[in-house]
Amino acid sequence: MIKLKDGYTLMHEHVTIDLSGVKKDFDCKLDCFEETVEEFKELYRLGVRNVLEVTNMGMGRDISYIERVAEATGIQFIISTGFYKEPFLPQIVYEKTAEELADMAEKEINEGIGDTKVCASVLGEFGTSKNEMTNTEEKVFQAMALAAVRTGAPVTTHTTLGTFGEQQADYLIEHGVKPEKIIIGHMDLSQDLDKILRLLEKGVNIGFDTVGKLNYCPDTFRAKALGEIASEGRLPQVVLSMDITRKSHLKSRGGIGYSYLFTDFLPLLKDSGMTEEQINTLLIDNPKRILEE
Ligand SMILES: [Zn+2]
Repeated sequence: MIKLKDGYTLMHEHVTIDLSGVKKDFDCKLDCFEETVEEFKELYRLGVRNVLEVTNMGMGRDISYIERVAEATGIQFIISTGFYKEPFLPQIVYEKTAEELADMAEKEINEGIGDTKVCASVLGEFGTSKNEMTNTEEKVFQAMALAAVRTGAPVTTHTTLGTFGEQQADYLIEHGVKPEKIIIGHMDLSQDLDKILRLLEKGVNIGFDTVGKLNYCPDTFRAKALGEIASEGRLPQVVLSMDITRKSHLKSRGGIGYSYLFTDFLPLLKDSGMTEEQINTLLIDNPKRILEE
């Protein structure tokens, strides 16, 4: 069972990740330990106490690295298991059945990851390609749903630019996953409020988890959409994060850094009329309910 520390929780981050092989871009190997520790110390000062780390098998997940960042900063990391999306799936996904893949994830939840004693608590981030779920991605969805039903673990997904979110939710719910344990990720990138509200009607949670990625979506859209979601009474179904994945996202390398959500985005939300209480709903209450209950 997950027990969060009192404070803010970021719900979709990568402390270290390596997608550089497939992307053929060294920037996609985020492994700047000292700089990351500095940034997470700043997050701690800003009130962050928990981070849902959504890197899993095939994405360069590194438990000892995460543990060292936790130790140096006082921030608790919630660890994930599962498989991402094509073309980032490890060979084993193509070789095993959905049942076998579910067993692998379940083992990481119940017994620990590799020879560490660290257990995964969340299934994710697993996802779909732009406007489609490929056959192998469907196999992963089937495996993740199986593991979620058996373990009760929350699931968190990746949508490509906010596409296929409704199909993801339908698939998981049809396969027995409780809507309140589902987070459909990156929905801010859809930039489509009607689509977002339709998805929320299904009872699932969504991630506005690419805050600050202005080349994909302006933060003014995020702020305005959150206001509309709040007036529909759906704010309890939204979680926030930034999804930092590249060296160049770090502050020391000219990026916005992990603290941007607090130093820049929250002031924007407040300017657009969001209250402190609503911000606590997004950053404290919702993560607690989704992860702990
Ligand atoms: Zn991610």
